[in-house]
Amino acid sequence: MEKNLGKSALVIGGSLAGLLAARVLSNHFENVTIIERDPVHNLPESRKGQPQTRHLHGLLVEGLKIITGYFPDLLEGLQTDGIPIMDMAQTMQWYCYGGYRANFEFGMKGVITSRPFLEWQIRKRVLDLPNVTLKDGYSVQKLIASENNKQITGVQLIKTGQETAPETLLADLIVDASGRGSRTPKWLEELGYKKPPESIVTCGVGYATRLFERKETQPENLKWIFITPQAPRQRRAGGVFPVEGNRWMVGLAGWHGDHAPTDEEGFNAFAKSLPAPDVYNIITHNKPLSDIISYKFPASLRHHYEKMDHFPDRYLVLGDAACSFNPFYGQGMTSAAMQALALETLLQTNNTLDGLAKPYFKKVAKIVDIPWQTAVGEDFRFPETKGKKAPGTNLINAYIDRVHKATHHDTVVGAAFLKVMNMLEPPTSLLSPRILWRVAKHSLQKN
Ligand SMILES: Cc1cc2nc3c(=O)[nH]c(=O)nc-3n(C[C@H](O)[C@H](O)[C@H](O)COP(=O)(O)OP(=O)(O)OC[C@H]3O[C@@H](n4cnc5c(N)ncnc54)[C@H](O)[C@@H]3O)c2cc1C
Repeated sequence: MEKNLGKSALVIGGSLAGLLAARVLSNHFENVTIIERDPVHNLPESRKGQPQTRHLHGLLVEGLKIITGYFPDLLEGLQTDGIPIMDMAQTMQWYCYGGYRANFEFGMKGVITSRPFLEWQIRKRVLDLPNVTLKDGYSVQKLIASENNKQITGVQLIKTGQETAPETLLADLIVDASGRGSRTPKWLEELGYKKPPESIVTCGVGYATRLFERKETQPENLKWIFITPQAPRQRRAGGVFPVEGNRWMVGLAGWHGDHAPTDEEGFNAFAKSLPAPDVYNIITHNKPLSDIISYKFPASLRHHYEKMDHFPDRYLVLGDAACSFNPFYGQGMTSAAMQALALETLLQTNNTLDGLAKPYFKKVAKIVDIPWQTAVGEDFRFPETKGKKAPGTNLINAYIDRVHKATHHDTVVGAAFLKVMNMLEPPTSLLSPRILWRVAKHSLQKN
């Protein structure tokens, strides 16, 4: 333990953000309890409270860096379990804007697993920590506050799905990592606080996913495939990941209601309608192993806790509970990891738990700004998208079109793009003179 800021900490939600929060808190508190609504078993599983985990999930390089910083043996563990860990640009087969991005050696590894498998590997390591406990099968119902409501002192919880008497758990610090459905805005209102301002930008995205058999021994069966749309003309996408258990996970997505059906004929026809054949080829050459399941994501949603004048002490919000973006850009887990790291920095530098909320939410807002802008900026390519559009979005999108096209031939632009996509560099790095010049050169050659 680095520093003892308090005796006990509580985390609401035992999914990825909650596990990372617990890992950070374990450095600063004598004991940490994760309260998870679902029963949790020691195996890779999608739980009722996180249905999105049955769909394609990619962990960006920045997220992987932070997470392996906390769990140095994670990659080894994943590899031992047969997870391919590969140079992400060499194994990429990504069709966009009329061509395939050129392959090259990026020097950065990508980890491709199913989301439940990744969470299980992380959860095992978190629960191995001597001061972390999981209280699963319990739902937090409300917050408990000091007499003047200025400080959160605990939570009230019940056994999920049972009409038992509520229990109370007290703690020195509580972190809400209960995901997109977080009830913090409502709980705060019950205590007399204002609701946080929120931003909503619609995208009307729908996912449909199916698992297929994969013959592991062939090297071409370790590639990952993306077909992404030239919006707004196209609004359909497809992805294929080689996941554990010698399986392909195939995901089809569409914007603003153009969703892949969940019957085989409709699913296959949607895949065939994509602008390149790669996903359809996988579907038609491999044996299906599962039903087709779907998930709807209506809008990106951000709670601006940083804009609240009054917020109680000893209470923080992390992960999708603070902000959930259109998942297509794969930023949720990395954003949660960055927020957990920001919490670590604050706990290391603060001598007290009081007054944490302001600097914490300021940091979260800064972290979330970039992925938020990336996701909603892309979604504003569609005229149906509703919400607050930042000035200059159309201009930036027009430039990004050219960046995409340049990546078909130019691996310098390709590397710059992948760094931004993986949240290793800010989007402004694509405007450096070197990249601007190369993008302009490719645009002129095309015309
Ligand atoms: C279709 C889809 C695809 C995605 N793809 C990607 C991707 O490729 N890459 C990426 O990085 N991210 C992706 N995401 C986002 C990613 O799933 C989340 O950012 C990530 O799982 C972190 O979520 P979380 O832990 O904050 O919340 P969640 O995963 O939603 O977990 C919240 C947890 O809190 C529990 N809970 C809720 N309420 C209570 C309560 N009252 N008491 C106790 N427990 C409670 C729930 O049971 C659940 O376990 C995707 C999302 C979707 C919808």
